[in-house]
Formats: sequence, C-alpha cells, structure tokens
Amino acid sequence: MGMKRLTKQRRAVLEVIRQAKGHHPDAAWVYAEVRKRVPHISLGTVYRTLDVLVEEGYLLPLSRPGEALRYEANLDGHLHMLCRHCHEYFDIVHPLPDLVSEVRAKYPELTIERVQVEYQGLCPRCQEKHPRDTESSVGQTPHI
Ligand SMILES: [Zn+2]
Ligand SMILES: [Zn+2]
Repeated sequence: MGMKRLTKQRRAVLEVIRQAKGHHPDAAWVYAEVRKRVPHISLGTVYRTLDVLVEEGYLLPLSRPGEALRYEANLDGHLHMLCRHCHEYFDIVHPLPDLVSEVRAKYPELTIERVQVEYQGLCPRCQEKHPRDTESSVGQTPHI
C-alpha cells in the first residue's frame, strides 16, 4: 500500500485533504479544490477516489445522519468537537481513559470493535457570532 502506487488523481485528492489542515471537507469541497490541479476530473471520479482512499486506509470517513460524508486525513488518534452552528469538526487531542477493556470484560458476549466519542458545542467563531447562545448542559453530561 505504498504512496508510489497512487495515481496522479488519487494523489491530488489526498493532498488537498491533507492540506486542508483541521478542516474536514466533504466531497463537494474536495472536488472544487482538486479541479484547480486536475481540471478535467469529474465528480464521479472524486467520489470513487475517496472510496478507494478510505478502503486503503489513507482517509477516515466521518459520517453523520443526514449530512454528506466528511473526510479525515489526520490518522493520529484524536477526538472531535462538532460545532452545532457551522457543523465543522474541530480536532481535540486529549487522551481518553481506556474504557474498552473494562467494558469488554463486563460484556464478553459483545464484540466491541471501536469506540466513537464526539464532543459537541460551539467553535470560537460561532461563539462570537452568537454570544448568548451557549448551553450549560455540559456539566450534566456523564463524564466519559
Ligand atoms: Zn462554528
Ligand atoms: Zn479531525
């Protein structure tokens, strides 16, 4: 699975996502950016390329019901905060306690494959735009 085997189109798709730093773009955004480098690429090709890059482990898909799939090129384990106004994901690098082994021990009949934790709230820009719109429910959320 070496980078050498990536075609020009696949490399361009991967690069625009990697250079989006902190942004977690959807296919439409990727398409617009990739066309600046590969003008004749089609949206279908971008979708297929994204699928292949996910399959081969270069990208992680971020899915939310009712929304376009977003793509993550930063594969260092990190968490996300989803801003409920602009719907952008913000990277949170903070260790989580290892609950999985405890839960596995408690529920041996379940095969737990992965844990998905997502913080939700407001990003700095949206806090500025909506200064009075801050929920104080976080304190009641059970601690993870
Ligand atoms: Zn925001
Ligand atoms: Zn991220």
